[in-house]
Amino acid sequence: MIKVNDNFTLLSPSYLFSDIAKKVSAYRSSHPDADIIRMGIGDVTRPICPAAIEAIHKATDEEASSATFHGYGPEQGYDFLREAIARWDYRERGIDVSPDEIFVSDGAKSDTGNIGDILSADCRVAVTDPVYPVYVDTNVMAGRAGECGSDNRWSRLEYLPCTAENNFCPPLPKNNPDVIYLCFPNNPTGTALRRDELARWVGYALANNCLILFDSAYEAYVSDPEVPRSIYEIEGARRCAIEFRSFSKTAGFTGLRCGYTVVPRELKGFDSKGNEVSLHHLWLRRQSTKFNGASYVIQRGAAALYSEEGRRQVRETISYYMANARMLREGLAEAGFTVFGGVDSPYIWVRPPEGIH
Ligand SMILES: *Cc1c(COP(=O)(O)O)cnc(C)c1O
Repeated sequence: MIKVNDNFTLLSPSYLFSDIAKKVSAYRSSHPDADIIRMGIGDVTRPICPAAIEAIHKATDEEASSATFHGYGPEQGYDFLREAIARWDYRERGIDVSPDEIFVSDGAKSDTGNIGDILSADCRVAVTDPVYPVYVDTNVMAGRAGECGSDNRWSRLEYLPCTAENNFCPPLPKNNPDVIYLCFPNNPTGTALRRDELARWVGYALANNCLILFDSAYEAYVSDPEVPRSIYEIEGARRCAIEFRSFSKTAGFTGLRCGYTVVPRELKGFDSKGNEVSLHHLWLRRQSTKFNGASYVIQRGAAALYSEEGRRQVRETISYYMANARMLREGLAEAGFTVFGGVDSPYIWVRPPEGIH
């Protein structure tokens, strides 16, 4: 008999985007002349910048000759990329992260989804609400979420509301979770946490021995100097947080696939016998067993984003997206909607006027 992982059978199909598609097509047939702008589902629209394309072409040519060919690479990523990340994303901003704490991957979806492999199935998990669905569904798959109620809430997850009423700053948990997922700047609300707000979370995690899984996929969009781009800007975060990053939103790598995760050396968990265990060591073991590294060619492309040209080109693309976000924000506000986000992230969260939904 083929026995399946029961947890997968608990997952409910995601209806959100098919519901939106139905509403759009219903509207289209009742308003055939309407010029519809779709703002629901996202992907980047700008092509890969020239600096990365040039590096990718060059690396592709290297693969054609036996003298320069690259086969399997290091599971943790090539030194040239990890050193560029450590320098430009951390050291130049006064943040202490060393290249050997960086794990290059094929993207932040895989890493935020896979990180649960190194955590006990007993861990209690807290998520913000609304939430990037990967955090919830991967915990369902691992058996940590309990049962799904009719309100679409999982019994063992703690939901931390992010609403206009609390200014999208989630309240500290009440149920003593072991693991907390935070994503700031936030997908989907587009809002960010200030340094003092994030410091409260780091303080909470240190005082209560919990792990923060910090998704900063949108860090490149931060414009407010009061908004941290990395959780490691906060004192003590190296002892309680793992940070996930992606080149997808920073540089349009959604199709090329590359991201990275930082697991600081100091970060410790405990096994069931109470022995201290290095999370860095476990993640290295996990990655070197189940992952064979991101493609050499793509890692060359990612490294080129840190050249002077690359950094300028990335900034230009981000300004383009942020100009669009500003247009949407201002246009929607003028049309009578209450609008949040769109300042430190490309997302806008909209409260429609009474009667529209
Ligand atoms: C887009 C996104 C990611 C990951 O993207 P990858 O393409 O897998 O690197 C991760 N987290 C959030 C919140 C995102 O919006």
